[in-house]
Amino acid sequence: MNNDLVKLSQATDYAARQHIAQRRKGERAEPYINHLTEVAAMLAEATEGADLVLVIGGLLHDTVEDTDTRPEELAQRFGREVADLVQEVTDDKSLPKDVRKRLQVETTPHKSVRAKLLKLADKTSNLRGLMTSPPAGWTRERLRDYVVWAEQVVRSCRGLNPRLEAQFDAAYDTARRHFSV
Ligand code: ZN
Repeated sequence: MNNDLVKLSQATDYAARQHIAQRRKGERAEPYINHLTEVAAMLAEATEGADLVLVIGGLLHDTVEDTDTRPEELAQRFGREVADLVQEVTDDKSLPKDVRKRLQVETTPHKSVRAKLLKLADKTSNLRGLMTSPPAGWTRERLRDYVVWAEQVVRSCRGLNPRLEAQFDAAYDTARRHFSV
């Protein structure tokens, strides 16, 4: 039996169930699971399928932040390494949004390599989403701010994985031109 494949399938199923009612903020309101599978696929490709914890972390990275998932539940189901990775990329939602954004810039340099790769893939997916489906009601200034902020967050994630970095840069350059940053 291929336990990795079983775990990966369970994580995909679990992520889809936990985020079942959630949609992306963009005007197209895509199912949230599309963001998670995009991030996971990017991470799997970038590491040539060699890091199951990272790919499962990609699938589950927003469960604690956006759903009622508790870190202990992730540890029980998917192991301590996955739970710790998700925790590393989870914002404290009790803090105001501007503080959370500042903390992402300040704390990312001190995170693990896996967390940094996950951040790169996450921000790439978010920048792509901003262009294909900008959130309704966001002003041009807010869109620009997001693009600038995303690059600040991942600045310390460079030099780790050329493929992910190139994908981020492509999304960032397109977004910059798109929103005249
Ligand atoms: Zn995300």
